[in-house]
Amino acid sequence: MKLHHLVTGGAGFVGSHLTDALIARGDTVTVLDDLSTGRSANLHQHKSSHSLTFVEGSILDVPLVNSLVAKVDHVFHLAAAVGVFNIVQNPLKSLSTNIRGSENVLEACAKNKTPVLVTSTSEIYGKNTSDALGEEDDRILGSPLKVRWSYSEAKAIEEVLAYSYWHSEGLPARIVRLFNTVGPRQVGFYGMVVPRFVGAALKNEPITVYGDGTQTRCFAHVSDVIDALLKVAGTDKTVGTVVNIGNNFEISILDLAKKIVAADLAK
Ligand code: UDP
Repeated sequence: MKLHHLVTGGAGFVGSHLTDALIARGDTVTVLDDLSTGRSANLHQHKSSHSLTFVEGSILDVPLVNSLVAKVDHVFHLAAAVGVFNIVQNPLKSLSTNIRGSENVLEACAKNKTPVLVTSTSEIYGKNTSDALGEEDDRILGSPLKVRWSYSEAKAIEEVLAYSYWHSEGLPARIVRLFNTVGPRQVGFYGMVVPRFVGAALKNEPITVYGDGTQTRCFAHVSDVIDALLKVAGTDKTVGTVVNIGNNFEISILDLAKKIVAADLAK
C-alpha cells in the first residue's frame, strides 16, 4: 500500500536519505524543515517529482504541525537541533526545538492517532561508554550546567514523551536511537567528525583531534541506517519500544584521523 509520510527534518542529512528511500519505494512524502541545519539542495533530485511536497517551517509552529500531521498516514520525526557546536552555542533554542517541538509533533500524532517514529540518539547514554550499549542500559550524565548534556536530556525527554503517548494513549509510537552515522550530504559545520576530517584532508590542511584521540566511536553508513529505520517502522513488533541503530565496529578518533590521512585524499 502506498503511504503518505511526514518527514520532519527531511532536508537534513539522514532525513533527505530517508525521503529518497520512501519515494524510491513508491510512497509520497511531505517534508517539514526550517532549513536551520538542513539544506534544500539535499532534496533537489525530487524538484520535479509529484511525490514530494516541501514545506519550509518549524516544528514549533503548532497550527502548521497539526495541519500537516492531519494529512498523512505516518510520521518520521527527525527534526532536531543537532551537532555539538550548535547545541553549545544555542542552548535555549536547542532545548526548545528538541523538547517543545517534539511534544508538538507527538501531540498532533496523538490527536490524529497517526503512527510516529521518533529518532533519538546514542547521546542519551552520556558518559556510559560500555561496549555494545543495550536499549535498557543506564544513562551516565554530568552536571546539568554543562550545556553539552542538555542535548542528551532533551532527547531523553522526547523518548519518554513518545513512550508515554503509547503507554497512556495507545499512540503507535516507535523510538530509534541513532549512533554515529556518516555518508554523502553530511556536513562538518556543527561538529561531525568524519566530514571535518575529510574536508581538512581534501584541502591538505591539518586535522584537529580533540583530546588525546583515544575516545572511540562506531560509524554506520547512512544507507544501512535508512534500511534499519524502514524495518523498524514496518513492523508492529516495534511499537512502544526503542531500538538502537548503529554499526558495531569501533574505532578511536586518532585511528580514524590516521586512516583519513593515509587515504591521501588531496592527491
Ligand atoms: N572530534 C575531533 N575533531 C573534530 C570533531 C570531532 O576530534 O574536528 C571528536 C569529538 O571530540 C568526538 C568524536 O570526534 O570525540 C566524534 O565527534 P562527533 O561530534 O562527530 O560525534 P559525537 O561526539 O556526537 O559522537
